[in-house]
Amino acid sequence: MTKHVHGYAAHSATSELVPFTFERRDPNPTDVVIDILYCGICHSDIHSARNEWGWTQYPFVPGHEIVGRVIAVGTQVVKYKVGDLVGVGCLVDSCRHCHPCEEGLEQYCENGFTGTYGNEDKIGGTPHKMTLGGYSDTITVEERFVLRIPSTLDPAATAPLLCTGITTYSPLKHWKVGPGKKVGIIGLGGLGHMGVKFAHAMGAHVVMITTSPEKGEDARKLGADEVLLSKDPQAMKAAQSSFDFLLNTIPVGHDVDPYMELLTLDGTMVVVGAVEPLTKVSGIPFIFRRRTMAGSLIGGIPETQEMLDFCGEHNITCDIETIAMKDVNQAYDRTVKGDVKYRFVIDMASL
Ligand code: NAP
Ligand code: ZN
Ligand code: ZN
Repeated sequence: MTKHVHGYAAHSATSELVPFTFERRDPNPTDVVIDILYCGICHSDIHSARNEWGWTQYPFVPGHEIVGRVIAVGTQVVKYKVGDLVGVGCLVDSCRHCHPCEEGLEQYCENGFTGTYGNEDKIGGTPHKMTLGGYSDTITVEERFVLRIPSTLDPAATAPLLCTGITTYSPLKHWKVGPGKKVGIIGLGGLGHMGVKFAHAMGAHVVMITTSPEKGEDARKLGADEVLLSKDPQAMKAAQSSFDFLLNTIPVGHDVDPYMELLTLDGTMVVVGAVEPLTKVSGIPFIFRRRTMAGSLIGGIPETQEMLDFCGEHNITCDIETIAMKDVNQAYDRTVKGDVKYRFVIDMASL
């Protein structure tokens, strides 16, 4: 007896999201069933719903920034009980025995992790071949992939941490950002605003690198020590060879050379936004200052819990605009235009 769930789905790359009823599996012994309270809108939801990355199958239910309450647990669940406030991010399954899985780096599972939406559902138990995400009233997830939400944080403003938070926290930690480091966050959107907050909380000197002059004041309020306008060639030249680390959240392919030139000797730029080809990557910036360009994908489950606990300790949440489910299509258009400060969150009570 699977459970009927209400949500919103896209049925093609060009159609809007519309109400959609589907099924979730009956809870297995290690499953947690969650009544979804809030779900953030990540730019990846939009890329996927519109098939901009070419791998979407329809019907497609987005949503991987989920916060909710536990309403049922399987017989073998030990970490959670009914009533707990929990989160689900981008991952709901992985092989659990490859080297990355054993290290808690499930996002790099050698046998392919299962994303919260749009991936083959290897657990099954429903007629759907693909996982269906958090723009819905409930979700059923294995205990291992469920996170605990600190009770002191606002649940709505916490939801986007499950993707935007971990995607920025993980590379900042991995490349040891902290006191004495000059760090640039490129792009002030959902990811960028959390990158600024985390880098500031970690004690780095933070520079917001933006195409939008009007965002400068906000960037400072979020914790930036300086603002650098990437469209100002003189300012970019003056800042050359001065950064230890850059976190690049630009959501489309772009010319990376001007950003690489900002790095000092042995500096690293981590790309988390663009999946499309990066244009004009010349060898010169790499060779002349032993610079590195790298990438980073979300974060594993243990580090996601560490990030949430860090947010609890430092009282960090996302700056959000809460919307009703019916307004999701308008929110997509506004996100693409950069017209959101800085993350839309759907209030599922409106479904
Ligand atoms: P977003 O809210 O739309 O923010 C992106 C920001 O990038 C914009 O606000 C803008 O900031 C800047 N920007 C946009 N177009 C640009 C262009 N052509 N050139 C230079 N700057 C540009 O997006 P998001 O939700 O933060 O997501 C960012 C990207 O990360 C998306 O592609 C998303 O799919 C991806 N993502 C990756 C991971 C991962 O694990 N690697 C996880 C989540 C999301 P300014 O106005 O300040 O310039
Ligand atoms: Zn995301
Ligand atoms: Zn694995």
